[in-house]
Amino acid sequence: MIVLLAFLCDFDIFFSKYAIDHNHRMLITHSIIPGVIIIILGIIINWIPLIIGGISYCVHVIIDTFDWGTNFFYFQKKQIGFKLLITEEEFNNLSEQISQFKNPGSFFDNKYYGNFRCIMIEILIFIIMVLSITFFAFRYLLIIVIYFIFLSFHLYRHFKLKKIESS
Ligand SMILES: [Zn+2]
Repeated sequence: MIVLLAFLCDFDIFFSKYAIDHNHRMLITHSIIPGVIIIILGIIINWIPLIIGGISYCVHVIIDTFDWGTNFFYFQKKQIGFKLLITEEEFNNLSEQISQFKNPGSFFDNKYYGNFRCIMIEILIFIIMVLSITFFAFRYLLIIVIYFIFLSFHLYRHFKLKKIESS
């Protein structure tokens, strides 16, 4: 449940069409609100795993502020965060930037995989994940398989986009 709550909110991608700019990170699911509600619920019913699950939901949203930013406080309707991958200028002319690619997704993909800091953060989080599962939940070690399933999905997409752009 804790692991599921850590990535559940990314399934809001299927509701992108209802989001501002069709950006799933603008949806309420990518704000801090659901995580806080889960934590409060966990406190009310006094269920520690639910509290930790709420924290893992929040960690996801916080990590999403590093690369592109996310609609953190929701009611502000503004994508906030460190936005390591995008400059203010690019952010304001996003549609023009995206139009330089055959597939719109390539703009984001290129930026992400071409960024040394993002790859380092990714590796660091992977190491923290392996260590915390090993120390706190060793009998669930096999859950790491889920990580590799999603990783291969992302890498497959990455190389497919590269192929499209170079063709
Ligand atoms: Zn996300």
